[in-house]
Amino acid sequence: MASEQEVKRYLAYWFQLGKKVLIRNGQIALQPRQVIKGDRYSQEFEDIWQQIVSPESGNCYLEGTDQTIAELLTPQWDVSPCARCEMPVPVRRAGMPPDCCPCFELDNWPNTDLPNPREPVCSQERLGRIRDRLSEGNEHSVPQEELPTALNTDSSTASEAASISTQEYLSRIRARLYKASIERS
Ligand SMILES: [Zn+2]
Repeated sequence: MASEQEVKRYLAYWFQLGKKVLIRNGQIALQPRQVIKGDRYSQEFEDIWQQIVSPESGNCYLEGTDQTIAELLTPQWDVSPCARCEMPVPVRRAGMPPDCCPCFELDNWPNTDLPNPREPVCSQERLGRIRDRLSEGNEHSVPQEELPTALNTDSSTASEAASISTQEYLSRIRARLYKASIERS
């Protein structure tokens, strides 16, 4: 069974490629102008979703598919990536893979030049990614102020560190440590 979250994502992805959702047995086509706003689905998208799940809307399905949204939310159906374009498509739990993906109607899809459809990014995740990027950046440059305390207590080190390159500074520290280890043994 596709979760509500998966079905929303399925619609969001196809909306971003210009597909509409048909409600009231195909009488009304809906498509939000904006699918994602910041780190969540747009209000417009949420309003359409509410219409889709409302019993008054009757059968609702994505343009180019035969499966109703209600069917996707039953145990017989899943939403899985299309073999051709990796877009989410309805897949019957037990049985054959889908014989059609809405992508077959799109001449210019898959298209690597276009930004791929996406889902809202949770701020927590985004912050995590920014943090990872920052710490990656730090690996390439050793912060000067951390060197003296971390590696040596010699009073001359701070000014020494400022006047020479990090590389050279580190090799001097290494030499000093090496010398110390020889003296100890
Ligand atoms: Zn496809």
